[in-house]
Amino acid sequence: MTKENIIALPNPHLREKSKRIGVVTPEIKKVVQDMQTATIDWEQSRDHEVGVALAAIQLDIPLKIVVVRNNYDNKEDHTFSVFINPEITKYEGRIVEDFEGCLSVPDVYGKVPRHDKVRVKALDIHGKPFRVTAEGFLARIFQHEIDHCNGLVFIDHIKDDPQAFFKLKEDGNLEQLNYEKDVRANSILW
Ligand SMILES: [Zn+2]
Repeated sequence: MTKENIIALPNPHLREKSKRIGVVTPEIKKVVQDMQTATIDWEQSRDHEVGVALAAIQLDIPLKIVVVRNNYDNKEDHTFSVFINPEITKYEGRIVEDFEGCLSVPDVYGKVPRHDKVRVKALDIHGKPFRVTAEGFLARIFQHEIDHCNGLVFIDHIKDDPQAFFKLKEDGNLEQLNYEKDVRANSILW
């Protein structure tokens, strides 16, 4: 699959809950492959952004699968970690605000409060259970992606915050959006 397969708002599927996977079949492995290919393809079309992670629903596949780039600071590294049926088992640390973007919310960025540390359990690509503890930006990624599996988009967390919305300018810098006009009245987002 390519970046053309990535769905974006206002597609209502992004606000539906994905289903748990029972057995990791060859079809599931193909979906995982497609998710990685589409993320890299999307990134290669963007000058100032990195495709850090993707949830299957972003390819319009309502299954609980998340892929996360192993080294999102290095655009040359195209390897990913796979999380099937990912779940946050514990939220820890402080609540921290930082910028988030989403392949399914083109050009809009938001300052989203998230926990600084989370514990995650999931199945790997072989169907074997494992657990990870994530801190900082990786903790944010997990919260963002697991939200996708549950039908939530990052803007849903900040919809009442007039200061939280930004757009990516062509030079790569962020500029605050006009909340009433560009956010509240924007029927693409809600
Ligand atoms: Zn997203």
